[in-house]
Amino acid sequence: MTTAQITVLAGDYIGPEIMAAGLKVLAAVAENQNFDYDLHEMPFGGAGVDQEGDPLPAETLKSAQESDAVLLAAIGGPKWDGAPKTPEKGLLAIRKALNLFANIRPTYISPAMQQYSPIKNEKPVDFVIVRELTSGVYFGTPRETTADYALDTMRYTNEEIERITRVGFEMAMKRRKHVTLVDKANVLDTSKLWRKIVAQIATEYPEVTYDQSYVDAASMKIIADPGQFDVILTENLFGDILSDEAAQITGSLGTIPSMSRGTNGPSLYEPIHGSAPDIAGKGIADPLSMVKSVAMMLANSFDRQDLSDQIMASVNKTIEDQIVTPDLGGHANTAEVTAAIIKNIQESR
Ligand code: ATP
Ligand code: MG
Repeated sequence: MTTAQITVLAGDYIGPEIMAAGLKVLAAVAENQNFDYDLHEMPFGGAGVDQEGDPLPAETLKSAQESDAVLLAAIGGPKWDGAPKTPEKGLLAIRKALNLFANIRPTYISPAMQQYSPIKNEKPVDFVIVRELTSGVYFGTPRETTADYALDTMRYTNEEIERITRVGFEMAMKRRKHVTLVDKANVLDTSKLWRKIVAQIATEYPEVTYDQSYVDAASMKIIADPGQFDVILTENLFGDILSDEAAQITGSLGTIPSMSRGTNGPSLYEPIHGSAPDIAGKGIADPLSMVKSVAMMLANSFDRQDLSDQIMASVNKTIEDQIVTPDLGGHANTAEVTAAIIKNIQESR
């Protein structure tokens, strides 16, 4: 077996704290399980600005491009407010350079997490949002502001819709085989184009149930009946809003991982939350978002669903045992949660 190459971008504020936790869990799950890997720790974000004057230093990008996967913890924070090159620019630059056009965020409420969820759901909640990340109104031109008006442009090409749609349907094939396209096809021409193209591609996946929902209706359903969803496929703006909404129903931002991928080349795995400067240095950051990002990486970039499942089962046991950080109402710190997960991994073998 070849050795997995992983670029590690530890990030700012709580970033390095949760990255350390994620890497310890990776080491524990890899031990004696025929998974060899090299870590390449590189400066990025605020650390890149401080060390190299650039949030995405050239050698960091080179390392990422030559790796099989990139692990990233949260970046940015008040230290770099108003700096000419902000840490966040590094994130946009690396997404662009790696052509990460698909963002995948799971919303999963395990039985153990149910007590922390603000919603009461009858069906189990386990869906993913597949969001187009590099086009739509955030990037469309023309774009201008005059004294009298401002203009943004929502634009999608057939090809941009096709490639994200395939990611959504491939994801559905590995899950419960149900895709819901979220759009505003009663109003927007871009949404009408999405409907046309997605309907065509859906015929290639006869096993997948395909339906559509307007974004306003979908935003209600995510609260009222989230158990109905499996894969939500959507464009950039709607996906941005719905994925933050979906995060809230799980109970804490600090528990949710994400994956961004391109056509080929490395995928990038990171928590959905920011660098939480308010709790940095206190040792109480919730490491679950980073630990689950590691699990997502093992399943998706290295075809090791077995190792991913071991991590997730150990995380769930840790939550059941109420060994959780203050964001989930617990009294444990980052190190204690991490140690509990590792103990569960070792005992499960
Ligand atoms: P950004 O603009 O970078 O997304 P934000 O202002 O949205 O940042 P976050 O850093 O995402 O803020 O988090 C908001 C709050 O949620 C934090 O201030 C913190 O209290 C809490 N939080 C986020 N992540 C975690 C975590 N891993 N563990 C504990 N609390 C967290
Ligand atoms: Mg935020």
